[in-house]
Parts: sequence; C-alpha cells; structure tokens
Amino acid sequence: MIKIAFLRRKCIGCNACVEVAPEHWVISKKDGKSYLRKSVKKGDYYLLELPDWEHERQTKAAELCPVRIIRVERGR
Ligand code: SF4
Repeated sequence: MIKIAFLRRKCIGCNACVEVAPEHWVISKKDGKSYLRKSVKKGDYYLLELPDWEHERQTKAAELCPVRIIRVERGR
C-alpha cells in the first residue's frame, strides 16, 4: 500500500494532480481546490491509502504540485 497525505487548505487549484490521476483527484466546484476522493480528514490533512501500483502516478502528482502539499509514502 501507499499512503497519501494532502494538505488541502494550501491548494491553489492549479489542476496538475487532476491531470495526472483524475480518478482520484477532482477540483471542487464549491471552493476551487482539489479534493482527494475517498480520503479521510485528519486534522489539517486528508489521508488515503492506495495499492502499490499507484505509487508512480501519485508521486508524479506530488512532484507536479507547485505548492508541494501532496505527500506520498510507501506503507508497511
Ligand atoms: S497540484 Fe497541488 S495545488 Fe494543484 S490542484 Fe493539485 S493539490 Fe492543488
């Protein structure tokens, strides 16, 4: 598994993550920020676990995020 942690309040709605993985990232019509589908809010972060094969794509989304608010880690 991989673990994604997303600091949503700092999102600037640039759409880069959505272009990389539209099944998981979507821009909210309410506030223009990205939303990580099926994630769970914990404090300031939205957390989600995905299968290992998502690692490359989600890492790419994290690298393309201009404000660096997506963190991707390998789970144990
Ligand atoms: S790439 Fe980063 S700043 Fe851009 S929409 Fe996604 S989370 Fe927000």
